[in-house]
Amino acid sequence: MTTSNSPSVVVVGAGFAGLIATRELEAAGIRVRLVEARDRIGGRAWTDERLGGHMLEMGATWVHWLQPFVWTEITRYDQEIYPSPDIEDAYWVSDGNVRHGTEHDLDAALTRLQEKIFEGSREFFPYPHNPLALLEDDTADPELIERFRRADEGSVLDCLRDGGFTKEEIDLADSYWSAGYQGPTSTASPLMAKHWAALSDHRSSLMDEQTLRFKLTKGMRGLYESIASDLRADIELNTPVERISHGPSGVEVLMADGTVESADAVIVTVPIGALSNIEFDPPLPHSQRKVVDEGTNSVGFKIWIKVEGHHSIIAGAPGEHPISLLRSEYFLDDEKFTILVGFGSDHTTIDLDDKDSAQKAVNVWRDDLRVIESGGHDWVADKWSGQTWATLKSGQFFDGWSRFDAPEGARLRFAGADYAKGWNGVVVDGAIESGITNARRIIGDLKPQR
Ligand SMILES: Cc1cc2nc3c(=O)[nH]c(=O)nc-3n(C[C@H](O)[C@H](O)[C@H](O)COP(=O)(O)OP(=O)(O)OC[C@H]3O[C@@H](n4cnc5c(N)ncnc54)[C@H](O)[C@@H]3O)c2cc1C
Repeated sequence: MTTSNSPSVVVVGAGFAGLIATRELEAAGIRVRLVEARDRIGGRAWTDERLGGHMLEMGATWVHWLQPFVWTEITRYDQEIYPSPDIEDAYWVSDGNVRHGTEHDLDAALTRLQEKIFEGSREFFPYPHNPLALLEDDTADPELIERFRRADEGSVLDCLRDGGFTKEEIDLADSYWSAGYQGPTSTASPLMAKHWAALSDHRSSLMDEQTLRFKLTKGMRGLYESIASDLRADIELNTPVERISHGPSGVEVLMADGTVESADAVIVTVPIGALSNIEFDPPLPHSQRKVVDEGTNSVGFKIWIKVEGHHSIIAGAPGEHPISLLRSEYFLDDEKFTILVGFGSDHTTIDLDDKDSAQKAVNVWRDDLRVIESGGHDWVADKWSGQTWATLKSGQFFDGWSRFDAPEGARLRFAGADYAKGWNGVVVDGAIESGITNARRIIGDLKPQR
């Protein structure tokens, strides 16, 4: 392992975390080698043309001004946002029956459930961007800390037990959170939902607005390409990293093409679901290895479905159905067609590009809708992600993402949404936060040598 007079860092992955970390390091005069396994940048943000050339997001879509890190970048690069459409009709499934109402009816029913699920969020997260603050507070009530720890156990729907809720209400909550956790609600840590609430002023409506309302006019592509254009480093595409040797004075990074890069430090922005593709020497500690082996709760999917005619709908169905949440997003060609977006909790239950598979899934609510085409990207099957957005299994709020926080002076650092403190896992905001903070720590650590 070598270190030269001019510090250098390898950044693994050119998603938002890697791009931002590179920009930050370069601004401090550090040489960066930025390597990316795929043939494109953006990672789990990918604006593509699908379903007849329509600009669609395969991954990240919605942003918000209350997400501080992404909003700064939106402002910096002069990007604009616009809202998803308002919806006329709502459908939800319970016990095999399809209920029908307005979006307002659905929101009202959900709000009562969410309030119960969010219980404790104020006490547990006095500082939502430092979610473990309570554990660091010597004056905190031990009984509160005990309740906080217990809230990572069980499943998110356990929060509704003893609340006197009907089967229909429980099914509604299951629909919402099967989509939100991108996996079975039975294994989903209740603390993740409570943390999202704390980041949203403990309000269901604000949480929805932050995660499902405003899109970028030029797509996520407008943002990640703007950041990339500010970098001096060439982004080396099709360059997977296979092995990282790390020590107290530097690192060696082996690429799949056999080349080795020696550097002072490495920032790995690879999602938890793809970390096992890299061999670490010395191996990752048990606490991190355990998280990689368990994986996150995220085994679901996002699908785009084009149907004939104008349909302004939102629909929910509990986790045993392929699609948990479906909503109209675009009305095309004088309202001759509608493009719907759907989320489900098990990627094996649907073939994203097969219209018959999509038709079957949509029939759960409306068998009169005619599917023309469908599409999406299977992020769980994709070797370079292995999951969609990172969601937490029971126990992983305390024994998961936070295990990757490296100590001062560490030459191996993990950055990315999956390891973020604020919007952990779910949104681009967390990727940017984590890219900045880890780059700054490395800049601080390498300073004495400069
Ligand atoms: C379906 C879906 C919907 C989403 N919706 C939203 C949304 O509406 N709003 C929102 O803000 N966020 C959303 N997200 C989350 C958001 O996309 C992610 O949080 C964010 O993009 C993660 O950025 P990152 O840089 O941490 O990781 P990534 O974007 O995953 O970047 C990591 C990079 O590392 C590369 N890589 C992996 N392994 C290697 C290797 N061995 N060698 C070299 N490179 C490697 C990958 O190819 C990738 O480019 C969504 C995600 C998905 C999947």
